[in-house]
Amino acid sequence: MQMMGLIGGMSFESSAVYYRLINEAVRTRLGGLTSAEVIMHSVNFESIVALQKAGRWDDAARRLGDVAVGLEKAGASCVLICTNTMHLVAGEVQARINVPLINIIDETATALKKNGAKRPLLLATRYTMEHGFYAERMRRNGVEIMVPDAGGRTATHNIIFDELCAGRVIDSSREKLMAIIEQAKAEGADSVILGCTEICLILDPTALPLPGFDSTTLHAESAVDFCLANGLATNAA
Ligand code: GLU
Repeated sequence: MQMMGLIGGMSFESSAVYYRLINEAVRTRLGGLTSAEVIMHSVNFESIVALQKAGRWDDAARRLGDVAVGLEKAGASCVLICTNTMHLVAGEVQARINVPLINIIDETATALKKNGAKRPLLLATRYTMEHGFYAERMRRNGVEIMVPDAGGRTATHNIIFDELCAGRVIDSSREKLMAIIEQAKAEGADSVILGCTEICLILDPTALPLPGFDSTTLHAESAVDFCLANGLATNAA
């Protein structure tokens, strides 16, 4: 029996989306009343945000590494960090466990390449857009990303933390994000990465001026693929 381990709570608004997507995908594929074998350790996001703001990425890596070790001990056969931003410490977390960490950046890159997208605009937190870890990992996958200008990056970051992570979806913010996408399109973007796991709460990836790639959906589907390929199907009987 294959069980997936989710490091959630960053924020819980998107973890709830993961939980629904994963279970819906398993039920769709296996039928009946099947649902996924899932363990989620949902952390207190406020404490993670404090580490992010202080740039204490080593402490954040230790914290998420401890959680990952716990999930493996509890029986998880793969681990997901349910946020793009905290993939900044994905290498350190993977080094602590013996099961695969399914990387959201790699899974998004695979989908972009499969669909012929070559110049995606990244919408994400400031950390993800500016730190370099995301662009580097994409480059390793053969994808060159674009980011919004400074004003667009600030607006996107604030919409994520002040609104979406706090459970607020505001129409005028959707319009701001759409304007950022239109500008990027005019500057040569051929696609959009919803590169924060809450952005799918405000933007429908199928209703954008460019093809949209939702990191939450792609990550959740990859976890289901992994668990089905590795034996979750045997639970269905
Ligand atoms: N969930 C968001 C992401 O995918 C932001 C929250 C965080 O900082 O972890 O990046």
